[in-house]
Amino acid sequence: MALDVICGMKVKEDSPHKSEFQGKSFYFCSHDCKTEFDKNPLKHSR
Ligand SMILES: [Zn+2]
Repeated sequence: MALDVICGMKVKEDSPHKSEFQGKSFYFCSHDCKTEFDKNPLKHSR
């Protein structure tokens, strides 16, 4: 399981909502959370 860093939910790693940032993969529960992450990945990846 991965953590959706936007809303704090646990997400499966086969989630279609996924971003790559600085060589790491981030998974999200929804398109909205992915969009939020993509706006400012640096802030959310810490
Ligand atoms: Zn989410």
